[in-house]
Amino acid sequence: MTSCAAPKSPMELGTSMRRGACPSLAAPMQTGDGLLVRLRPATDGLTPAELTVLAEAAAAFGSGIIEVTARGNLQIRGLTAPSVPALAAAIGEAGIAVAEGVAIETPPLAGFDPNEIADPRPLAATLRAAIAERRPALALAPKLSIVIDGNGGFHLRDVAADLRLEARNSEDGLRWLLSLGGAGRPERPVALLEAERVVPAVMEILAELDHLGPAARGRDLDADGIRQRLSAGLDPLPATGGALPFLPAGIHDFGNGRTVLGVALAFAQTDSASLIAFLSRVEELGATEIRLAPRHGLLVLGLSREAAAVGQRLAFSRGFLVAADDPRNHIATCAGLACASALMDTKVVAGLLLEVGADLLDGSLAVHLSGCAKGCARPRASPLTLVGAPSGYALVVNGTASVAPSAYTDENGIRSALAGLNALVRRNKDAGESARSCLTRLGTARIAAAFEQG
Ligand code: SF4
Repeated sequence: MTSCAAPKSPMELGTSMRRGACPSLAAPMQTGDGLLVRLRPATDGLTPAELTVLAEAAAAFGSGIIEVTARGNLQIRGLTAPSVPALAAAIGEAGIAVAEGVAIETPPLAGFDPNEIADPRPLAATLRAAIAERRPALALAPKLSIVIDGNGGFHLRDVAADLRLEARNSEDGLRWLLSLGGAGRPERPVALLEAERVVPAVMEILAELDHLGPAARGRDLDADGIRQRLSAGLDPLPATGGALPFLPAGIHDFGNGRTVLGVALAFAQTDSASLIAFLSRVEELGATEIRLAPRHGLLVLGLSREAAAVGQRLAFSRGFLVAADDPRNHIATCAGLACASALMDTKVVAGLLLEVGADLLDGSLAVHLSGCAKGCARPRASPLTLVGAPSGYALVVNGTASVAPSAYTDENGIRSALAGLNALVRRNKDAGESARSCLTRLGTARIAAAFEQG
């Protein structure tokens, strides 16, 4: 971790447009609206005052647009080469520690959630230290991620990981299920480990990735060979996944008077003035800590049930998502025209979808709106993905943004195309059937026809 005390000069900043790069303070990413920096706090959460400092800095040194990503990282947009060092200095002066190195992610309420089988944070800290002390240092892919999940209510099972450790109860006590994954392919369990075996096993796998080269990801590993080495002669390993993803928005009751107010950023973005106003009010109401959460969430700790209800009303008035049934929860958008690569204004199309797509947005699926085929907002397949294309809009059915589309429309046809998809579900849905299962039953050809015929 670092407290960002040594901002670099503009000349030292290595800006990047490279796919697979991580836009840190030291290497911000060039986008359509200037430089972008992604920050991951090194602590469990931030105080309201610390997050206010970041929001003020976003307005002073950037465009004032703040994002929380699908993985729960904070992004500040609209920076310039001279303003990035000023941002770093402001963060350093506030004493905010920023995580560096391999991303080791734990659930947003780790250590707070009474439903988790084990607190994953001590294991994460031990692994971070082992990686930092490793000599020679490991050269790993910038976007490599390790998820350590205590398996509570606010789990990370739908967050893609190169290496995943998930707490499991067994007859012999706590075990950690180790799986290999990566975007675009199912995870492959390779071992069920006692706590003391976890760090040596993970370090061995990281050394293999280092050997494969600095672009190697979990999907490139020989899962059968690793399973043989770590689990030979043992019972079959349990499967991973299977739990519904959690949505941060709502008032979450953890018993014994412990309440968490969850809000989410509509289409992943807010502006600094709205965030500062919200933080100021919840701090007055008793908030002590804000934890960033996957699915663009902010989880507010320290409030009473009554105070959370007041904070929720204020969040709603400021444009935040406050309920799991808000249809905006079910649209995944990237930055759209704020990104230099965008061929589609994702926010405008999201607005159209909200107007005409009520039957699609029943919560059973996420409609992915991607400015280009890179698919930043959702690396995994989605039942419906709309991708910006040179000629207009391309529809991918049951795939990621990068796979071959099944249908196209243009600027004049996009509204009726979305309405056509919605009508397809409305007319064909059986009683009690979800939009997702209806679309699966109807199949790609009918979905593509409904989109193109409008
Ligand atoms: S998916 Fe969106 S944010 Fe990502 S590169 Fe394409 S346009 Fe930019």
